[in-house]
Amino acid sequence: TTRKIKSALISVYHKEGLGPIIDGLAKLGVTIYSTGGTETFIRDRGVEVIPVEELTGYPSILDGRVKTLHPKVHGGILARREEDHLKQLAQFEIPEIDLVVVDLYPFEETVANTEEEDLIIEKIDIGGIALIRAAAKNYRDVLIVPSREDYGTLQQIIDGKEGVSELEDRRKLARRAFAVSSHYDTAIFTYFNADGALPVFKRSEMKAKELRYGENPHQQAIFYGRLNEMFTKLNGKELSFNNLVDIDAAVGIMKEFEDADPSFVILKHTNACGVAVRPTQLEAWHAALAGDPVSAFGGILITNSPLELSTAQEIDKLFYEVLIAPDFTDSALQLLSKKKNRVLLQYHHLQQQPLSFRSLLNGVIVQDTDRQTESADQFTVVTERQPTGRETADLVFANKCAKHLKSNTIALVRDNQLIGMGCGQTSRVDALKQAVTKAKNFGFELQDAVMASDAFFPFGDCVEIAAEAGITAVVQPGGSIRDQDSIDAANTAKVAMVTTGVRHFKH
Ligand code: 5GP
Repeated sequence: TTRKIKSALISVYHKEGLGPIIDGLAKLGVTIYSTGGTETFIRDRGVEVIPVEELTGYPSILDGRVKTLHPKVHGGILARREEDHLKQLAQFEIPEIDLVVVDLYPFEETVANTEEEDLIIEKIDIGGIALIRAAAKNYRDVLIVPSREDYGTLQQIIDGKEGVSELEDRRKLARRAFAVSSHYDTAIFTYFNADGALPVFKRSEMKAKELRYGENPHQQAIFYGRLNEMFTKLNGKELSFNNLVDIDAAVGIMKEFEDADPSFVILKHTNACGVAVRPTQLEAWHAALAGDPVSAFGGILITNSPLELSTAQEIDKLFYEVLIAPDFTDSALQLLSKKKNRVLLQYHHLQQQPLSFRSLLNGVIVQDTDRQTESADQFTVVTERQPTGRETADLVFANKCAKHLKSNTIALVRDNQLIGMGCGQTSRVDALKQAVTKAKNFGFELQDAVMASDAFFPFGDCVEIAAEAGITAVVQPGGSIRDQDSIDAANTAKVAMVTTGVRHFKH
């Protein structure tokens, strides 16, 4: 349904930018009502305007606190354009108002510029907010322009469509209106709640889940979400804050191997300490555990294939926190549920939020989740030696592992098995040394293994150390102005190196 603007109420704090709107409305022959300062502005422009006082029969009172709060104003905005409502308008001699243009008192700016509460309080707009909400509520018939940021949209309707709006235009502006009004009231609330004494979220309304505690027992925590859509919990105690963080990390890395042969990942404190892909699940389990059997204690385990009894029997020997699988065979479930505390989660799908949030300083940062994964055809060989087929497959695998380890990180892989990793280090050389030491401690031969780095090498040193340890192929994003240093080091040691062009920092 289209509506043509025939009458308008205009009450704006900042007058700049209003001129062309007024001219356009005048050209369309629109009847304009307005408040004090705005009315003067319109009159000064040589356009006819009816003071809102003339409409209400009241002057603006209480220093402007009450200007437009009157049935003659709100009736004309809120009336449905239907017989019954129109009859009432006629009865009380209320004119219809088709367009409301408001720009609110600058509450936030005032708070930013003064600490005097009296001045701040006076900048709480009451009538303007009421106009915005009334017009937005009646968007089926009324066009609301809730701030001067929306003048452009209005100008288009005036100039481009001769003042005729579609229902869709009006609903979109109503949405804007409630964005403006909710933002405005939130700013007022924030000012009144400066000490933070009143919690912002009502826990019951959010249907949130209170956790026993946060990362540590002295921290409170709540989870907001719908875990049931992702998992069915088949056994075990309540999920803790740390469990949830680790489960999230487990889902992230297993997503990389979702369609691969049977795979297992073992995580501790969000980092994978064991990753393996094998023809059978039991082999995948053994290979993942072998990566770091010490760290695996108390770990989070995830696989991409239904949990079998033979694997369950092996896993049962280990103390673990959470085991996640797409399904559990009856016999496996029966065995594992004997330990009442162990959490068993059946996943329905491995879901990742498209956006990730993190609170910092006095705000929050939001970013796209890192969902990019490189395959072999995105590798650029930068060395004289080409990686072999086996090395290339391991480089893809290692690159996936590095993406999910805390920076700075190095992942060492051989035959689809993570055999060493260093992560969360302040230098990449330290990460590499840690990875080599771990691999050796757990009895791995590094000869013919491959190495992945989350970010580029600024120097040749990492490649030199790796080559010395027996590593024959390297994957890294590239992009350092000193890439050539590590390429030279690789060529000297007859190591193959590929670059991906994609960095995967994880902080
Ligand atoms: P003007 O400069 O036209 O006198 O005032 C415009 C401002 O008054 C706009 O920011 C508008 O939101 C606000 N306003 C309009 N009606 C009322 C009212 O009844 N009470 C209050 N407090 N503000 C109003």
